[in-house]
Amino acid sequence: MGFIDRTARSFLLSELVSGMSLTLRYMFKKKVTLNYPYEKGPISPRFRGEHALRRYPSGEERCIACKLCEAICPAQAITIEAEPREDGSRRTTRYDIDMTKCIYCGFCQEACPVDAIVEGPNFEFTTETRAELFYDKEKLLANGEKWEAEIAHNLELDAPYR
Ligand code: SF4
Ligand code: SF4
Repeated sequence: MGFIDRTARSFLLSELVSGMSLTLRYMFKKKVTLNYPYEKGPISPRFRGEHALRRYPSGEERCIACKLCEAICPAQAITIEAEPREDGSRRTTRYDIDMTKCIYCGFCQEACPVDAIVEGPNFEFTTETRAELFYDKEKLLANGEKWEAEIAHNLELDAPYR
């Protein structure tokens, strides 16, 4: 670009005008950004978020302590202990997930024969301490109670593909 061209552009403020016109054009376009955390984008029903242990509508725990999830977990993040109840049914006495090890592969929920352990839709579970990411059975069951409606809906949507 020659000297005259550059000088003419400077005097006519052509770059400023073209920049402002671009700004004006985008002011009236649909926004592509979201005002997170007040607005959230849609997530897939298959989204693999925070883990939860589910119960049947009767309140009984779904988990039958078969330990398939523990066996398949590639990160060895799951620890289960179990013993038979008085009625002969088998239930866990301990179900821990070390969320700092988990790689959210979803194998645990795929292995579970009774849809007990699932990865729910919650992705907002950051903590201030590492210790808070060592989930125990109580925490996982509480997650199940909190997210059951969404989890059940997502499993229903995904059912034809499973
Ligand atoms: S999502 Fe994968 S890594 Fe995490 S607990 Fe389940 S099987 Fe293990
Ligand atoms: S969560 Fe499912 S796979 Fe894991 S021990 Fe319980 S029933 Fe078995």
